[in-house]
Amino acid sequence: MRRPLRIIMLGPPGSGKGTRAHIISELYGIPVITTGDMLREAVAKGTEYGKTAGGYMSRGELVPDEIVNGVVGERLGRSDLENGFILDGFPRSTPQAEFLDDFLEEHGLKLDYVIHVTLEDEAIVKRLSNRRSCPNCGEVYHLVSKPPKKEGVCDRCGSELILRGDDRPEVIRNRLAVYREKTQPLLDRYMKKGLIKEVPGDYSMDRLSEQLKRMLG
Ligand code: ADP
Ligand code: ZN
Repeated sequence: MRRPLRIIMLGPPGSGKGTRAHIISELYGIPVITTGDMLREAVAKGTEYGKTAGGYMSRGELVPDEIVNGVVGERLGRSDLENGFILDGFPRSTPQAEFLDDFLEEHGLKLDYVIHVTLEDEAIVKRLSNRRSCPNCGEVYHLVSKPPKKEGVCDRCGSELILRGDDRPEVIRNRLAVYREKTQPLLDRYMKKGLIKEVPGDYSMDRLSEQLKRMLG
């Protein structure tokens, strides 16, 4: 059996972190932990922390670190991660990165790679405003490059697709600003540890799996 892989996906909203995370997940059989999905689920269920998180999310701000660290800490404690994990959307701030470092150290675990997915702002805004999401199963579509078979309907579960509130252009701009201020500094942190791998956000899918395989071995 291959050794476990522990990976962080880092990059601006809409850069394609999620897509790349899922390709790696399929290639290596490792679960993806997507904080955005976990938080949206909590909002939909109306749990206590979901109520708090929802407001921040609709404005494109970061949900407070205590909440997110709590959710991720609990998830990382479960037993299905012996082959490793791919963190998609975490950490997004220095306190979150510190929390993760402490967690890993306590459990004697190490990060293998931080995959930095890059894409220019203009391309991001275009991509996100064309994105349609399934509120039921989480599947993501793109009106031009990956349209659903039937307009407005999820291929996987038949639910009606939506434009996420935070994928509206004015909120996207805010998410980009937040990314730059809070998340981008983490690049330096992981650069110093020699963990960063750069991946462009606009590769076609075939080249992408090839590139990831070459990179991760
Ligand atoms: P994207 O990567 O496209 O911005 P996500 O689905 O990852 O979208 O995140 C959506 C929203 O969920 C974020 O704008 C933020 O409000 C919240 N969120 C997700 N992950 C985190 C995190 N690690 N820390 C704080 N807030 C988060
Ligand atoms: Zn669906």
